[in-house]
Amino acid sequence: MDTSFQASPLIIPEYILSSSGRTMPLLGFGTAVSPPVGPQVTKAAILEAIELGYRHFDTACLYGTEQPLGEAIVEAVSVGLIKSREELFITSKLWCSDAHGELVLPALHRSLENLMLEYLDLYLIHWPVSSKHGIYEFPIKQEDFLAMDFKAVWKAMEDCQRLGLTKSIGVSNFSCKKLADILAFAEIPPAVNQVELNPLWQQKKLREFCKANGILLTAYAPLGAQGTIWGSNRVLECEVLKKIAKEKGKTVAQICLRWGFEQGISILVKSFNRERMKSNLEIFNWSLSPDEVRMIDDIPQTRLCCGECYISEYGPFKTIDELWDGEI
Ligand code: NAP
Repeated sequence: MDTSFQASPLIIPEYILSSSGRTMPLLGFGTAVSPPVGPQVTKAAILEAIELGYRHFDTACLYGTEQPLGEAIVEAVSVGLIKSREELFITSKLWCSDAHGELVLPALHRSLENLMLEYLDLYLIHWPVSSKHGIYEFPIKQEDFLAMDFKAVWKAMEDCQRLGLTKSIGVSNFSCKKLADILAFAEIPPAVNQVELNPLWQQKKLREFCKANGILLTAYAPLGAQGTIWGSNRVLECEVLKKIAKEKGKTVAQICLRWGFEQGISILVKSFNRERMKSNLEIFNWSLSPDEVRMIDDIPQTRLCCGECYISEYGPFKTIDELWDGEI
């Protein structure tokens, strides 16, 4: 077993991030909600998650969940669910319209203000593309896309880490090629690349690349993001996974999450339903057999979250193939 893995008192194993030495719980709680729910519902779900033992929370400027997450943290401390914010690992992300060298630091300050925190544990570039400053829109208008100045943006991300405003920095939705471009000039290499990863899109090439370069790969949509505008039910309805789950007396979701954990990646899963939040945590005291792992390995591969809304005839990526540098 990799020596950088440590047992946590909360049972969720942790990983020591390469560029900062900070530990990240390997199973985290997602807060991207689709269709949207109100901030009170989000805050209540996060408090329940803290109560159940989640300690790693993923948000983004785009999700509109920084504020309810911040409020939930304050309340969790005040009612004694946790002693202090130090017990949590908080990730947020830089939105495309702030992905310009001079706008990174102000954007991080705004996120910290929303979260009522002095520092983040991890700050990520959300997508490898910029859009016109000052225009917060989703989806981004075709004509508002711009190529990102990776050097300027990454340097500003490094400054954020040096200033102590975030303990680690990383990227999201980056291909091997784009990671290699960043690594070519980075003084602080990305600690994490957060991407879609599940049994139907296993990202074998990216996993190898990240492992070789000390970058922790983090899975979003580990269950295929069923019910959201970016996901589908194909993972939870996969016959191979259903068969394994039935024979093992587990849920398909637990099979997906356990498989991800056994691949040596970290995982973010979102559920605002107490029973599902709880069962999604119950993956650390059993394992998949070599035959089950082989069956999952053989599942035909399809990217579910293709990022169509980041393709534009005016922007740097005119096709899905260009966005992912052929990794589709
Ligand atoms: P996901 O965790 O694969 O799926 C979430 C969906 O699955 C929700 O609709 C949830 O509904 C349902 N669900 C959760 N547990 C379940 C279970 N045990 N059985 C059946 N259904 C279950 O997808 P995701 O939310 O897209 O990904 C997780 C997190 O990754 C996000 O919340 C976000 O923080 C992050 N993310 C990042 C990016 C990026 O570009 N970096 C993109 C997408 C997501 P209920 O709430 O009703 O349980």
